[in-house]
Parts: sequence; structure tokens; C-alpha cells
Amino acid sequence: MNWRVPLADLDYGEDEQQAVLDVLRSRWLTMGSVTRSFEERFAEMHGARFAFGVVNATTALHLACLALGIGPGDEVIVPSLSFVATSNAVLYTGAQVQFAEVLGAHDLTIDPAEIRRLANARTRAVIVMHYGGYPCHMLEITETARQLGLAVIEDAAHSPGAALQGRSLGTWGEFGCFSFFSNKNLSTGEGGMLVTDRADLAQKAQALRSHGMTSLTWDRHQGHAYSYDVVELGYNYRIDEIHSALGLAQLNKLAANNQRRMELSAQYRNRLQETPLFFPFEERAQEPGICAAGHIFPVLLPEGVERRAFMDHLRAAGVQSSIHYPPIHQFTYYRERYPQVSLPLTESLSRREVTLPLYPTMSTADLDLVVESCLRFFDRPQV
Ligand SMILES: *Cc1c(COP(=O)(O)O)cnc(C)c1O
Repeated sequence: MNWRVPLADLDYGEDEQQAVLDVLRSRWLTMGSVTRSFEERFAEMHGARFAFGVVNATTALHLACLALGIGPGDEVIVPSLSFVATSNAVLYTGAQVQFAEVLGAHDLTIDPAEIRRLANARTRAVIVMHYGGYPCHMLEITETARQLGLAVIEDAAHSPGAALQGRSLGTWGEFGCFSFFSNKNLSTGEGGMLVTDRADLAQKAQALRSHGMTSLTWDRHQGHAYSYDVVELGYNYRIDEIHSALGLAQLNKLAANNQRRMELSAQYRNRLQETPLFFPFEERAQEPGICAAGHIFPVLLPEGVERRAFMDHLRAAGVQSSIHYPPIHQFTYYRERYPQVSLPLTESLSRREVTLPLYPTMSTADLDLVVESCLRFFDRPQV
């Protein structure tokens, strides 16, 4: 389908093209100086001590769980209103998940009170997800986790460059896991970053990213090491130089693009206020100390409006929309595995959710088209 306004779009240009060509001409494709620069600059921008480029955020989440020693017999609290990878990463380790509720229509991030409600003797960690690039309530979350002896992993797939009280999202917990998938705020196609401040966890994660090996390709190439040992069952979860080069080019645009996303989000709220649509995070976005990344623009339909009809109406106007997210616990695989789970709030909010187009290169005309088709659906006068 040829959308007039797609859900998301890349901000790619000359810089990205040049960056890839430079790598090709360098004739070094893996674990070289470009990846190292990307990791260093990403760490610096986020105020993290260690950063490791990985294949994608799913592998970052898996590595975080593994480095924390999570495995069979353990449980990890996760929000159900997230992408399925948040939960899958836990199951890869042989541990079980416990699904948590969100705060409500105004804030679709995990309810910190859920951590205490769900935690039991087997619970080892909580994964929180900064929905739409809006910060979870990290003060409450980290304090509760500390009291209960749980590790905190941040699924920061939506939130590169975002912060709460001056501290970057992804650096509040033991680990932060970022995604550079095509439709994310920083895009490399596939790609991700794992960050941590703890040297012990960094060492574990780094070895697990490369087959559990003790010395790395680059060091051997540089003549720093002759051989290597394998000390545990690791994986090959490394990013490569081409994706890292794209990441470096995109990093230069991140702050301005996040700001543009937030401006467009404010314009949406403003121009759609006459409709019965509800805007999650409208207040949260205004709170002092919040620097959000505006990854997506979610709206909630009023009870009783058929979502399918609304999305079909947008589609007819050439406007792509989406759903973030079908609750993880309601997918067939998870229903069969966790048949008892019931999260009424998550279920009802998810049924009403529609995501409107949002991307930094979105023009005023693009926004006009989306706004006008929403107004027309609710039969509101167009301005
Ligand atoms: C995109 C996304 C992921 C997975 O990221 P990949 O890089 O595609 O593996 C995980 N969690 C959330 C919330 C996401 O949006």
C-alpha cells in the first residue's frame, strides 16, 4: 500500500550514505573502530559507563537477563502492554514472566505498585518499558526494587535521548536496552545497545555477546592477543561496522529529532482536542524533569467506538495507523502458557488504543491530513 502519510519514516540522507561508504572502503566490517566510536558516543550521550553494540534490542534484553544470572526457577516482572520481545527475552533464559498492569489511560507505563503485588521468593528482576519514550516512574520503581532485592532492566527501545530529572532513561536500572530497528528514533535497520554502569555486569555482558570468549577479534587483529578461551556458553550478538556507522550518523540527529517528535505530538493534542480522543501522557509530557523522546503518538478511542472503523477510515485517506500493543498475555503462545493471567486495565486500554503517524520529517501538510481525517471521522468542523 502506498500511504500518503506512513506510520513512521526514516530521516536518512547524505550522512548515512557517506558513513556506509566509508566503512566499505575501510575493508573492516566487524568489531572495529566505528563500533567502538558508536559505543563510546552513545555511552557519553546517555551518561552510561559501559555500552555494547548488539544485533538488536531483543538480544540486549536477553544478555541483560543472562548477565544477571536469571534462569530456570526464576521469575521476572514485565509489563504486558509492550512489544513481545520484552517478555520473550526472559523466557529464552528458562525463567518465567509475571505480567504487570499499567498505571492508567493517562500513563501507559508500568504501575510501580505492581512490583510489590507480584514479587515472590522466586522474583529476581523487573523489566520496565518507557512506553512511547515517556519515562516510567523510576524513583518509585528503583526504590521498590531495592527494598525487594530485585534488579531493574529498562526496555529503552522507545527512549534513546530521553531523560528523567536529568538522568537518561536506560541508566536508572542495572541495564538499559535500546533498539535501532528501522522504525525507532535512531534507526540502523537492525541494531541495539546494551548499557550499564556496573563493571562486573559489563564484563559478563561483553563476554556473552561474543561466544563467551575471553579475547576479541579486534584485539587479535591488533596483535594484542594470540589465542582465546571459552569460559561459558555465549552467543554471537554483535553489531557490525556498517550498522554502527549508520548509528553514529543518526546519533547526530537524535536530540533535534526527539524535540521535533514532541512538537508534533503537542500539535496533534492541540488540534484534536475537540474530538472525543483521549491523549495518554498529555500531563506527563508537561511535568518538570521530563525529557521524553516522543517515539509514537498513541490515542485512546472512547468506549464504544469501533477501532476497526476508525483505522479503516484513516486508511481510506491514505493514513497508516497501528496498535501499541496487543497485550502480550493475550497472544496464543502466552495464553497457553499463562492461562490464569487477567489484567483488566491493560486489556481495556489496549482495545481502545490507536497509534497515529509520527516521524521527525513529518511535514505540516502530513499532520494536516491526519488531523483532518480524524476530525472527519468524528464529524467535527475542520479548522
Ligand atoms: C522494538 C522493540 C523491541 C525490540 O527491538 P529489536 O531491536 O527489534 O529487537 C523491544 N521492546 C520494545 C518496547 C520495542 O518497541
